[in-house]
Amino acid sequence: MADYYDLLGVSRQASADELKRAYRKRARELHPDANPDDPHAAEQFKELSKAYAVLSDPDQRARYDRFGEAGVGGNGGPSMDDLFGGGLGDIFDAFFGGGSPFGGNRRGAGGPPRGQDMEVDVTITFEQSVFGDQIPVSLRLPQPCDDCGGSGAGEGTKPVVCVDCNGSGQVQRVRQSVLGQMVTSSPCSRCGGLGQVITTPCATCRGEGRVTADKTYTVDVPAGVVDGATLRLTRRGAAGPRGGAPGDLYVHLRVQPHDRYRRVEDDLVTEVGVSIAQAALGTKFTLPTLDGDEELVIPPGTQPGHHFVLHGRGVPRLRGRGRGDLRAIVRVDVPTKLSAEEVELLRTFAAGRGEEVGDGSTSLFSKIKSVFT
Ligand code: ZN
Repeated sequence: MADYYDLLGVSRQASADELKRAYRKRARELHPDANPDDPHAAEQFKELSKAYAVLSDPDQRARYDRFGEAGVGGNGGPSMDDLFGGGLGDIFDAFFGGGSPFGGNRRGAGGPPRGQDMEVDVTITFEQSVFGDQIPVSLRLPQPCDDCGGSGAGEGTKPVVCVDCNGSGQVQRVRQSVLGQMVTSSPCSRCGGLGQVITTPCATCRGEGRVTADKTYTVDVPAGVVDGATLRLTRRGAAGPRGGAPGDLYVHLRVQPHDRYRRVEDDLVTEVGVSIAQAALGTKFTLPTLDGDEELVIPPGTQPGHHFVLHGRGVPRLRGRGRGDLRAIVRVDVPTKLSAEEVELLRTFAAGRGEEVGDGSTSLFSKIKSVFT
């Protein structure tokens, strides 16, 4: 797929407004409804829409700028379905206030407004961020009223077409100006631009067409997400009034720290503590990885700070294939309390190598210290 900025015909510095304008313009040109004879139009339109969906989201745009397409698609990235939920119509619902820009009758001009976007913070475990999971996300938000099916009309009644605007939601006025005859339109005041009037409001929702209630969604957390990532779930936000399209739901993810591992890019990093004798003579060590226990062989003469690398045992790459590495960094723990016998053994060891050492008490060090003070 071509460069997203090129597809939209904007510079890499384009503002959100410029992007939106460019997208609307290109969308009108490429929309399949406007190009019934061009078999490629649908494909191009999809690409354009994907480019816009990515660039209009600040997080995704930043990732695209850094990593290109691999940063916003591929393994675990948002699919077309994630981006567009119920289909391409959604984007237009969001952009054009419900009316199709192509003269279609998706909902007619005017129509009920879109519901608000909602946000929710969710804390997930370190393991869930690494391997991905399906998590329940609960929130309280406006949902379509069951008793009136979202229309807002009372039992046994239906919304009726507004007589002032004939259902268009807009009233047009023709006036003369120096430039000739001009037609201006404004929202119909009788129906508030909805095109329909409710004579008997639904008792449950008082004509609003929606009620506030608790809702639990099951949300797919992609493997490899980072702390602070935001998932956008199209059409999972607040229901619009009187059957208006729902807004989107933004799920902000917080990742709990792990007591053994930390994450560096796509690598998992941990420390392995060994004694002086183990570092010098070698040992075996059972390392609990996120995938299960792993036997680590520490060869004789291992130095502090040495990295043992288990390739492909890190975090699945959110952008791209495979997994990062697991790195176990060796820490050599020097004993601070020695028995008299241990002191003797170490002194013998040092003497054999011609090294000058203290007697294990602090006296030598207090002497050295005294030289410097
Ligand atoms: Zn109702």
